Amino acid sequence: MDWIAKRANLTGSRQAIIDIEKQRTLTYTELNRSAERWAAFLLYHHIQKGDRVAVLGENQAELFEILFACGKIGAIFVPINWRLSKSEIEYILQDCQPKVLLYNDSFEEIMKQFKFLKAYRFTNIEQFTIPIKTISTENIEEEDPWLMIYTGGTTGKPKGVVLSHRAVDWNALNTIVSWGLTDNEVTLNYMPLFHTGGINALSLPILMNGGKVIIGNKFDPQKALYYLHLYKCTIALFVPTMYHMMQQTEEFHKLDFSHMKVFLSGGAPCPLTIYEKFAERGYQFKEGYGLTEAGPNNFFIDPKVAQIKRGSVGKPMMFNEVKIVDFDGKEITGSGVGELLIRGKHAFIEYWNNKQATEETWQDGWIHTGDLARRDDDGYYYIVGRKKDMIITGGENVYPIEVEQTLIEHPIIDEVAVVGIPDEKWGEKVTAFISLKNNQQIEETELIHFCKLKLANYKIPKSFIILDQLPKTDVGKIDKKALKSLKTSV
Ligand code: ATP
Repeated sequence: MDWIAKRANLTGSRQAIIDIEKQRTLTYTELNRSAERWAAFLLYHHIQKGDRVAVLGENQAELFEILFACGKIGAIFVPINWRLSKSEIEYILQDCQPKVLLYNDSFEEIMKQFKFLKAYRFTNIEQFTIPIKTISTENIEEEDPWLMIYTGGTTGKPKGVVLSHRAVDWNALNTIVSWGLTDNEVTLNYMPLFHTGGINALSLPILMNGGKVIIGNKFDPQKALYYLHLYKCTIALFVPTMYHMMQQTEEFHKLDFSHMKVFLSGGAPCPLTIYEKFAERGYQFKEGYGLTEAGPNNFFIDPKVAQIKRGSVGKPMMFNEVKIVDFDGKEITGSGVGELLIRGKHAFIEYWNNKQATEETWQDGWIHTGDLARRDDDGYYYIVGRKKDMIITGGENVYPIEVEQTLIEHPIIDEVAVVGIPDEKWGEKVTAFISLKNNQQIEETELIHFCKLKLANYKIPKSFIILDQLPKTDVGKIDKKALKSLKTSV
């Protein structure tokens, strides 16, 4: 269903998008018209149902215009991570074989290197004078792919996650219902629009429901706080690293955010110290869990409960089924740790061109998330870490998050990541990478002593490596893959 057209019919004069950098405001009518224009442009350039439309552009309104245009004609929108190197972008283009690539002017130089592709600048639409054809969405089925997002590659080569109209729409519906979104929501979106967090987590649910999306480009903690305040936002999603940066600014402590119903963290484990600082300021904060392949939204927690059950992502959303299974695939009904499985209408179709990965992830009708979780007696879920990140040291299982949450409580530790490094004696050695506040110093013995207060001996890192800064992925998550290879190459 072409719901952006419907939304324009229903509440056309309401503001839909504000693009801060380009200083553009689009009402729903304008957004739908721009999308129709792009759709006509794509049809004129012979794009058909099922064709991939690759898009290379920083956060800006055009990405939504083209996304909705693709939806109208049944094409597959493929936003590309513009921070990648030339060869990485090439890998994605070779993989998805787009029929056309649309790009922002700032990528002119890079585009010269991809001569094999039919490519147009965003500004080409300005000279587009062909009258808008009547766009018919009649032959578009809900199972048709609409969007393909390449995952961050935190655990390997990026994979194209194919999402149908059904999956995108049901994630939005599920979010509106389960999080109680109203048409008065205003969000500030600094999450990259090549990532599910930028598109599906809040932007599309809010647009489906008639709210407003403020688009920010290139995250800066002070600016983000300033715009949250200026636009009287009601809800916003950031990854923990961004919150960590925001909480260190004066703006965080001085500006008024009483209009914010809730600050939302997602995409990576959230240090409990971040909860603490929101509680001190009296603002609502909660953690969500998601992945590109399912939604991404899967759980809901009342922010008041979130402060009591810190670290929990809540209970499953209304139209979403989850279960936890042990290593033999048997459901765990008690409080044990196991792999989190998800199914629902918000689920992805497949990984593009990657039957093997699809079969590994889709088993017996469930998405195997590769994440470990547990449920408490009240039915609240906790993400314990990635299955692949679980450390087996001397035969004992260690969940990095538990060690990270302990170390981050130390007053001079700024950031921490715990990984398993192959070791002859232990199998894997628990290794902590840390950065310290204001370049202070600390002895290893003190860190060990600090851990001993809370952790069993086998969980205490055998090695502490201090870095100026921890490496981050393009969406701001701590890059454990980089840390592991750093250690192995030392
Ligand atoms: P790849 O799938 O290639 O490894 P990626 O991990 O960046 O890349 P995404 O779909 O962007 O792929 O991220 C989803 C993952 O992020 C989840 O599977 C989970 O490991 C992690 N994650 C998301 N939210 C949370 C959370 N609240 N707590 C802990 N981990 C989280």
